[in-house]
Amino acid sequence: MVKENLEDVEARICAACARAGRDRSEVTLIAVSKTKPVPMLEEAYACGIRDFGENKVQEMMDKYDVMPSDIRWHMIGHLQRNKVKYLIGKTALIHSVDSIRLASQISEQSVKQNVTTDILIEVNIAGEETKFGTSREEAAALVEEAAKLPNIRICGLMTIAPYVDDPEENRAYFRQIKELSVDIDSKKLDNVHMWILSMGMTGDYEVAIEEGATMVRVGTGIFGERNYGV
Ligand SMILES: *Cc1c(COP(=O)(O)O)cnc(C)c1O
Repeated sequence: MVKENLEDVEARICAACARAGRDRSEVTLIAVSKTKPVPMLEEAYACGIRDFGENKVQEMMDKYDVMPSDIRWHMIGHLQRNKVKYLIGKTALIHSVDSIRLASQISEQSVKQNVTTDILIEVNIAGEETKFGTSREEAAALVEEAAKLPNIRICGLMTIAPYVDDPEENRAYFRQIKELSVDIDSKKLDNVHMWILSMGMTGDYEVAIEEGATMVRVGTGIFGERNYGV
């Protein structure tokens, strides 16, 4: 099932790139494997997937220990500061940095372990109360402040768009995030490069690609519905 789903997702990514006049190589597919068992990840790995997204530190570490070492692990979930130390050196990219306190902790732990950690700033573009992320207004200030910290590199922005039935409803939000990233990039801050735009999930990744996403995070579309149990 994972193989067929991946073929479908891949075809849709290619079509969206073609519609937008973009090259397929500009978009990285992150397979969001949270709650899914290792054999399903292995299936995706066998199909060539090397980027996996998880939202819990412990679960990511458990999978990290048993999966091949050439995988790039993406932390996409809300991150508690006391868990940062487990992640450093093992994650390719932390997508969910939304406060200077969290950025400082990542910096501090990275200095301790003598590595540089790539991060994205999470923006709550629709201002939803239920979502984490800095506000659109505060994003630039957070980037500017975090850029001064040692051993972290700010590589772009991430957003989780609202849950909608029609992905077209999110097009304007994706466009706004793209504009915000261009604005921030134009400030030419040291240590800041807005290379990455992490946006688009199963319901709306095609629209996100049309609006400039460079990373899409697809879970359900690859692994099927998540069962959180009761
Ligand atoms: C779960 C999750 C996804 C994947 O969601 P799907 O709708 O299953 O594709 C993407 N991004 C984040 C931050 C998530 O938590």
